[in-house]
Amino acid sequence: MQPSDTALVPFVSVDHMMQLIHYIGLSDMLRGLAEYIAEDFKRWESFDKTPRVASHSAEGVIELMPTSDGETYGFKYVNGHPKNMAEGLQTVTAFGLLADVSNGYPVLLTEMTLLTALRTAATSALVAKTLAPKSAATMAMIGNGAQSEFQSLAMQAIAGITHVRLYDIDPAATAKCAKNLAGTSLTVTICHSAEEAIEGAQILTTCTADKAYATILTDNMVGAGVHINAIGGDCPGKTEIAPAILRRGEIFVEYRPQTRIEGDIQQLNPDHPVTEIWEVMTGRAKGRTSDKQITIFDSVGFAIEDFSALRFVRDKIKGTEFFHPLDLLADPDDPRDLFGMLTRAES
Ligand code: NAD
Repeated sequence: MQPSDTALVPFVSVDHMMQLIHYIGLSDMLRGLAEYIAEDFKRWESFDKTPRVASHSAEGVIELMPTSDGETYGFKYVNGHPKNMAEGLQTVTAFGLLADVSNGYPVLLTEMTLLTALRTAATSALVAKTLAPKSAATMAMIGNGAQSEFQSLAMQAIAGITHVRLYDIDPAATAKCAKNLAGTSLTVTICHSAEEAIEGAQILTTCTADKAYATILTDNMVGAGVHINAIGGDCPGKTEIAPAILRRGEIFVEYRPQTRIEGDIQQLNPDHPVTEIWEVMTGRAKGRTSDKQITIFDSVGFAIEDFSALRFVRDKIKGTEFFHPLDLLADPDDPRDLFGMLTRAES
């Protein structure tokens, strides 16, 4: 028996996602994702929100990230295993799903490892465009792993930087990132320490992976007027920024209840003031208020950003061949005759 068209769920494989990104163009896709994320941040209060459901182990974490706007439901499955890289595996892999709230049927299943890198970069750049000094042209990119090229190119496409200064404890990672960015119009400088990387930079991105209380930026390294885009501290016991910098700066987060557990602010008192970024985007709260201020985006990644990315993919694959129709849902002619469908399949 053939499944009906309504029961077939579009599935975007890794190969299809790569084709979709090339078809749209990486910069346009990063800008498009940022627009969808901004739209959803501006209607923040219409979403169901919960800190992600995390299953921790000694090696890493596996998380589910659900949300709904009442019409559409989405979730992402994602892992974070810093030791994977040494074994030839990705630190972060993901897939996700969108469903129709009115009948509960899935409407999209997609790879999200690439999509997470793009949505994280688009979110970072959207927030930097909102908070960083308007003249920001140079970014220090500390941690040159899987996310780093996407972070750099989104900051160029959305926040207008022209120059990246790369540093990683592993010179091979920096060489890889520099090689990948060589064909772009970004000016790339290879640095040999975090201190060297932040020289002259107005945006400081930390995107390292270590399941530990690490200090990538120490207090004496960070001067006035910069924007810090802290991406890598996204789990309990995993941080990048010295608490003294957090106390000197103005901190912006995605969703307080999740960031208190996972972000760099886990090092501060639970009542330390932080602003949710949607509040700035809707004009409810102030963003940067002076040239001297240090603004810090304590990013951990939130379900609404994945929901926006899933919406974007659902919209963009329409009329294309960048998906497989997946026989994911049982679809008997008589909805109550699930057993009969099974029996008929035997013959
Ligand atoms: P990756 O393993 O591919 O790269 C991490 C890089 O950090 C490696 O090249 C490693 O050598 C480097 N590094 C480790 N310690 C360092 C140090 N002290 N100084 C400089 N470099 C150092 O990982 P990835 O996929 O690029 O992810 C990086 C981090 O970002 C991870 O912790 C991941 O969980 C996090 N992440 C956050 C979000 C978010 O939304 N905030 C999204 C995706 C990934």
